[in-house]
Amino acid sequence: MAVEFVIVGGGAYGCAVAYHLAAAGASVQVLEAERIADGASGGPGKRGVRANRRDLRELPLMREANDLWPQLAEQLGAPTGYQRTGGVSLIEREVVGVSGGLVSAQAHAAAQTAFGVPTEVWDQERVRSAFPGISSEVRAALHVPLDGVASQAETTAAYAAAARRLGATITEGAPVAEVRSRSAGAAAISASGEQFTASRAVLLAANSGVAELAQTAGSSLPLWTIYPQVLFLTSSEPAQVPLLTGHDHRALSVKILQDGLIMLSGGWRGRRNPETGRGELDPTAVTGNIEQLTTVFPELGELTLVEADASRPESVAVDQVPLIGALTDHVYAAAGWSGHGWALLPAASKHIAHLLLHGERTAELAPLSLARIPTLGGRDA
Ligand SMILES: Cc1cc2nc3c(=O)[nH]c(=O)nc-3n(C[C@H](O)[C@H](O)[C@H](O)COP(=O)(O)OP(=O)(O)OC[C@H]3O[C@@H](n4cnc5c(N)ncnc54)[C@H](O)[C@@H]3O)c2cc1C
Repeated sequence: MAVEFVIVGGGAYGCAVAYHLAAAGASVQVLEAERIADGASGGPGKRGVRANRRDLRELPLMREANDLWPQLAEQLGAPTGYQRTGGVSLIEREVVGVSGGLVSAQAHAAAQTAFGVPTEVWDQERVRSAFPGISSEVRAALHVPLDGVASQAETTAAYAAAARRLGATITEGAPVAEVRSRSAGAAAISASGEQFTASRAVLLAANSGVAELAQTAGSSLPLWTIYPQVLFLTSSEPAQVPLLTGHDHRALSVKILQDGLIMLSGGWRGRRNPETGRGELDPTAVTGNIEQLTTVFPELGELTLVEADASRPESVAVDQVPLIGALTDHVYAAAGWSGHGWALLPAASKHIAHLLLHGERTAELAPLSLARIPTLGGRDA
């Protein structure tokens, strides 16, 4: 029997959109190749819920996400690990390229604040009072009090459980090989040849799998795959890093988890292992990431690496802003999260469900439309 919607991919987006569709009374089938949260929405630690220094096109969704995150656990009836820690982007240099440095700080703060993301510029004294052990090279910071962190594994499981309670079917171990658009509806065909027919639409929410599936529906999306690296370290001296911490020009992002465990990331990548098809660590990226940490926080003492991961793929869009929209009359895609899709989740998933249900995009979703790529614009205008 056909359902109204088939969603390919059981990550945070597949499960969250399924939740919103089911909550609106629609019938939904999610097909996940492996297990729920096997991709970017799983694994150890937490993800940053960061608006600071985000592309301005994403800020209308981010502003709404900031309103939704604090109540999400109650809404879904399960923990999300969300904490509003506040966040900073540290500044060392006067000028960084064309978009950073102290020279740009007031403009970033004013623009973010205008989009509903209150932002202030901290001077060096204010930075040092929040981060007593920080390098004296850090001269200022952009501070966003509404930034925070959330658990990707807990939140994705919470959305999946809530979607199932509302009647959605989520099938694991069901890789999809092809999607076909039909005059009425669409179908996803599994690797074993089974057809899952959607009377209304198929949504490709398979992240790094979306480009290949879109090809089977006749669309070429400007996406590629990266393997973001995360490291977990203990330090012999207490880590005095109380906020979600990023950096204006260094590839550095720091979160402090339970018991002072340091979660370190910020732009370092693993590499694809051609035999497993998953990401694996690149030792030079591990060393490089730790060097950035000790340069900015020289008083951490001895560091011990307790866990490292670069196995989880993430799709990147050509302009680093997600690509969301219709590939054909009945096949939609939501991918290209570009390493920062997590924070948008509660708002973006709601707007994607609206697009599927009503065939029209909301103003918040408009800047993420496929229509910004001329060859993809036709159906998605
Ligand atoms: C290490 C790391 C750190 C990150 N840190 C941050 C952060 O701090 N802040 C932030 O905002 N964002 C962050 N992100 C990005 C964020 O986690 C992702 O953008 C988000 O989780 C994407 O969710 P998704 O559901 O689209 O994709 P995924 O969670 O990857 O889900 C896609 C699912 O599709 C399945 N699949 C693939 N192909 C097929 C197929 N053919 N058939 C069926 N199923 C298929 C996969 O198995 C997977 O489970 C990070 C990502 C990574 C990897």
